[in-house]
Amino acid sequence: VAPPASVLDAFRAAVARAPERAALAYFDGRVGYAEADALSDSLAGYLAGRGVRRGDRVAVMLQNTPHFVLAVLGAWKAGAVVVPVNPMYKSAETRHVLGDSGAVVLVCEDGAWGGCPAEAVRGTAVRTVLTARPTDFQTRNDPRTLPPPAVPAAAAPGADAPVDLVSVARQGHPAPPDPRFASDDIALISYTSGTSGTPKGAMNPHGAITYNAVRQVTGHPIAEGAGYFVLAPLFHITGLVCELAACLVNAGTLLLTRRFDAGTVLDAFLEHRPAYTIGPATAFTALAAHPAATREHFASFQVVSSGGAPLPPALVARLRADFGVHLRNGYGLTECTAPCASVPAHREAPVDPGSGTLSVGVPGAQTLVRIIDERGAEVPLGQTGEIAVRGPQVVPGYWGLPDATARTFPDGELRTGDVGFMDADGWLYVVDRKKDLIIASGFKVWPREVEDVLYTHPAVREAAVVGVPDPYRGETVKAYVSLRPGAHAEPSALVAYCAERLAAYKYPRQVEVLPVLPQTTSGKILRRELRERG
Ligand code: ATP
Repeated sequence: VAPPASVLDAFRAAVARAPERAALAYFDGRVGYAEADALSDSLAGYLAGRGVRRGDRVAVMLQNTPHFVLAVLGAWKAGAVVVPVNPMYKSAETRHVLGDSGAVVLVCEDGAWGGCPAEAVRGTAVRTVLTARPTDFQTRNDPRTLPPPAVPAAAAPGADAPVDLVSVARQGHPAPPDPRFASDDIALISYTSGTSGTPKGAMNPHGAITYNAVRQVTGHPIAEGAGYFVLAPLFHITGLVCELAACLVNAGTLLLTRRFDAGTVLDAFLEHRPAYTIGPATAFTALAAHPAATREHFASFQVVSSGGAPLPPALVARLRADFGVHLRNGYGLTECTAPCASVPAHREAPVDPGSGTLSVGVPGAQTLVRIIDERGAEVPLGQTGEIAVRGPQVVPGYWGLPDATARTFPDGELRTGDVGFMDADGWLYVVDRKKDLIIASGFKVWPREVEDVLYTHPAVREAAVVGVPDPYRGETVKAYVSLRPGAHAEPSALVAYCAERLAAYKYPRQVEVLPVLPQTTSGKILRRELRERG
C-alpha cells in the first residue's frame, strides 16, 4: 500500500469511504467521520481568520480526548504545523516548548480541568488560546480519568481571552483552501520525552507519519473500520503515529479514554472490543497486574504492540500465559517518527541466547539500520555498537538546532544513542542507551540485562537499574523495584536471586523497594531520576 502524501489526505480518504462511521469513540460519545470533517473545517476557518498561515505553529496540549484529534486536523487544514505538548508539563517546561517552537495558538484543557497556567504562555508568541472541556462529547463520565479542578485557564498579556474549542467547531466557519501538503512538508514538531535531557523538537514530515502509519496495518489481519484503542498518549509520537494516523489510514474508529487508568481501560476493552493497540510496557504491566483482568478482556485483539521503551521478556511470557496476548515488540524514537523496526505479522521475535534480550524486530522496508563504532564504521555482524538508521521515517532534523542536527544526523543518518546488535537473520536487538552504561570495577554492565532478570522474579512488578558512585568500584549496580500487589520480597532476597543468575560484577549490590517507580507521562521509567536519588 502506497502511503498517502499527508495525514490530511488519509483522513479525507476515510471521510469519503465511510462518512457515517464513528471516527472517534469516547466513553458513550461518538463523532462520525463526516462530523469530524465538518468540525475540523470550522476550526481551520477560525484559525485562518485569526491570522494562522501556512507553516505557523499550533500547540496542542491535551489528553486523549476527541478535542485532540479535531484540533490537530483543524490546524493542518489551516496549513499549520502541530506542536504536541505534554499536558502534565509544569509552567517552565511548557514555556520552553511554546517559546522554542514559536507557537501562535495554544489549545489546552479548560482551566477547570487541567488548563495551562498563564505564566507558561507569558513572553511567548501565543495570541490565541482555545480551551477544551474533557466532558464534551459524552454524557457518562469516568471519575477515574478526570483530574480535580486545577488552575485558571491561560490568559497571557497580549493574548485574547480563551475561546471554547467545541463552540468554535460548531460555528460552521468555512474551511480555508486545502493546503495540499507534500510528503516532505513538516506536520509536527514533536519534542523528545526528555528522559535524558532538555527536550528537542524533532520535525516530523507528513510522509514519514503516513509511511509508519501504513506499516502498522500492512501484513496484519485488521479489518477496515476496526477499533484502535489509544493506550499511548496522543501527545507522544507513538500515540499520534501508531494509533491516530494508523487508525485514519484504515478508516478505523479511534477509542479514547482521556488518560491511562488500568481499570477504565479494561472496562473499555469489553465495551468496544478493539482489534488493535500499542502502548508502553508499563501500561501492559499495570493491566496484567490489575485484579479484574481476565482473558476475555483481551479476546478481541488482533494486534497488540509495545513500543518506545524496553520490553522485558518476562512480561511477554506473562501476558501470553495469563491472557493469551501475543505482545509484539517494536523499536522507535521521536527522531524516526515512531518505529523503525518491528516484529512482522505471524513471526515470533527471537531471544538472544547469550544475553536473554528479546529482539525488537526487523527494520522496515526502505529502512537501513547499521551498527557502527565510534568512528561511524560498521562493526562485524553480531557485535554491539551504536544503532544508526536511514529511511523514509527519519526526520530531517531538530527545529532551530543546526548543531545538534549535524551531530545527530550526519549525512541524514540518525545516530540513535542506543547500543544494539543484529543477528545473521536480520533481527535487531537493543541492548541499552549508550549513556546508561554502568562501569563497575572497570566492567561494563547494561542495566537492561539486570532488569530483565529482576522481572522474572514473581514478586517484582517494575525494575530499574542504575549506577551509583562507589569509592572502591567507581560505580556500583543498584536496583530499584516496585512489587506486585500483595507480594513481598526482602531486598536481600532479591540481591541473592540476581547473584544466582548474573556474573559477580553485574548483580546489584543494593536493592531498594519503592511503592512505584518514577515514570514519564509517556510511560517510561525514569532511570535519570533514580540515579539522582543515589
Ligand atoms: P530524550 O531523547 O529526551 O531522552 P527519549 O529518548 O525518551 O527522550 P523517545 O524518542 O520517546 O524519547 O524514546 C526513544 C528511546 O526509547 C530509544 O532511543 C530507546 O532508547 C528507547 N526504546 C524505544 N523502543 C524500544 C524497545 N523496543 N526496546 C528498547 N528500548 C526502546
